[in-house]
Amino acid sequence: MASFAQVDMDTSISRNYRAVLDRISISARKVGRAPNAVSLIVVTKGQPLDKIQAVIEAGAQLLGENYADEGAEKIQVLAGNRGLEWHMIGHIQSRKARLVCDFFNYVHSLDSLALAEKLDRLAGELRHKLPVLLECNVSGEESKYGFPAGQEESWEVLFGTFSSILHLPNLAVRGLMTMAPYTIDPETARPYFDRLRKLRDVLKGVFPQTDWSELSMGMSADFEVAVEEGATMVRVGEAILGPRPKRGG
Ligand SMILES: *Cc1c(COP(=O)(O)O)cnc(C)c1O
Repeated sequence: MASFAQVDMDTSISRNYRAVLDRISISARKVGRAPNAVSLIVVTKGQPLDKIQAVIEAGAQLLGENYADEGAEKIQVLAGNRGLEWHMIGHIQSRKARLVCDFFNYVHSLDSLALAEKLDRLAGELRHKLPVLLECNVSGEESKYGFPAGQEESWEVLFGTFSSILHLPNLAVRGLMTMAPYTIDPETARPYFDRLRKLRDVLKGVFPQTDWSELSMGMSADFEVAVEEGATMVRVGEAILGPRPKRGG
């Protein structure tokens, strides 16, 4: 039998999950978008399995992990749940590419041509097409991964690399991903989300054969602003599952 503490935790996670879905709907309607145009990816990195199971029971099927090893382990343990889709949202070290390809359904954090070529080769071996987003660093912060896209004047420099990625047969590029600089005030993230959408619109013009429909942007602190600016996927962790235990302690 579940303990009272367990029941309490399950209830609060379910409540948080539905509250975030409601806030997504409200933000979407505010700007005339359909609420179902936005997918909620629940970010489970650093969270214990009982919390992840609780959010799955609450209805979550799209889950995000940052680290290949931690993710692959959880994916196997939770494989009894039907219909889950696992999204890799963190930087991928080259030697972890195989693990990512073997276990994850979607990659948000494609940030170099070398990684793209490696994932393409591995996906080819598995005979499947891997959906990916190109991670772009639109803030110019040096600590961030992603293709450098802080200056609109230099977007053109990226086109050659992007063209090479778009030609890889076993990757399916679906759009762009970004992380805004960390902030208390979500409004400060708005210009970065706006810039990512603009870059996407430019890429649509340059590479019209590619499906650029997805924009993965917005986290616990700023997902409502991201939805207002056109996010089709938001990645929310702590607002649903509570604070993460500190990594590496
Ligand atoms: C951790 C993380 C998130 C979720 O952050 P929260 O603040 O817990 O919502 C989203 N995207 C990426 C890339 C992350 O690393």
